[in-house]
Amino acid sequence: MVDLEFFLEYYEFLKQEKEKGKKIIAYMSHDNIPEELIDAAGFIPLRLIFSGNDELMDRGADYLPTSTCSFALSTIGLFSVKPNKYRFLDLIDYLIVSNHCVSDICSSEIICKYFDIPRIDFYVPYILSENGLKYYRLELIEFKKKLEEIRGSSISNEDIINSIEKYNKFRKNISKIKYLDISGSDKLELYQKALLYGPKILELRDFNINNDGQIKIKNKKNVILTGCSIFLGDDLIEIIEEGGGNVIFLDTWVGDVYFSQTLEDNWLDQQKENDPFDILTEMFNRNTYTDHVVPNFMEYKIKKIVSIINNLKEKLGISNIGVINHIIKFCDHMSLPREQLKEKLQAKNYFVLNIERDYARASHGQLSTRIEAFLEMI
Ligand code: SF4
Repeated sequence: MVDLEFFLEYYEFLKQEKEKGKKIIAYMSHDNIPEELIDAAGFIPLRLIFSGNDELMDRGADYLPTSTCSFALSTIGLFSVKPNKYRFLDLIDYLIVSNHCVSDICSSEIICKYFDIPRIDFYVPYILSENGLKYYRLELIEFKKKLEEIRGSSISNEDIINSIEKYNKFRKNISKIKYLDISGSDKLELYQKALLYGPKILELRDFNINNDGQIKIKNKKNVILTGCSIFLGDDLIEIIEEGGGNVIFLDTWVGDVYFSQTLEDNWLDQQKENDPFDILTEMFNRNTYTDHVVPNFMEYKIKKIVSIINNLKEKLGISNIGVINHIIKFCDHMSLPREQLKEKLQAKNYFVLNIERDYARASHGQLSTRIEAFLEMI
């Protein structure tokens, strides 16, 4: 799990960027935010990927009902309590209000309104269709205009293409983490740090990833983690490891769902002379693994999990792999389809555990017991 030193380092990083005149643009939304445009504007995207605890959830509940997801409540709580290690939140200049889910939009609006952070709206269509793509493109254009207004000058197509290439290279590099010969908790930490630093992490840290596909963690009870992300500061992955398990693959947004969104270099080269909005729209069109996509979310999800398991078995010779479907309490996107997902995977003879939980300390004991019992079955 990331330590205090990391938070201090991250604060210094943001502070230095701000001193160079860059704006910090934060957002809660898990997906489809065109960070390439933020980067092309010369600003720094800050993803709010921080988990919570009893206190933060309680403080969030001063603003929204307790039936709001625990992650969203905790994010509001962070702005309300401002724990010392999170003082980098004071550096935020704008917050994007987007509609990944109801909790996302409500909590982002609350944060802007009650903690006095100017908002930028960016709405994403739920349906992947011709009209959905047209709508997404229009939102991109409006978003760019807003960024130009903030920086006081226009953003060139060349700058956008450069940022698209930069982010594509970044995702490609980090996506290799999935086959590193390291524990699930180490992989998660790398994903979390990469999401916060963005492409800059390739300069700041030695990411000499040796993608030899030789995972040696064969004696562990290996599981794929799907569903909700494990946000920074959450110890779920440590609980799994203490129970003798290992998360071999993170099929979550803080994980492969984000980092697998890459474009082929050839295709990107051919598009360079085209309108960069077409490229960004095509990226949205191809993003079929996110929980924001209808129709066919379940179909895509099952197909992906089966393919991950087959790949791991074939490449690494690992036989039994379980699936843990992580649901943050009151996350509708993951909670509603949980039984259907479990049934469909069980019908294919996979071991599946649905865990629905919040960040309350009191639920840890019960959670460990359930995970241990599940791991015994694998
Ligand atoms: S955890 Fe679920 S409900 Fe909460 S913000 Fe994310 S997608 Fe929305």
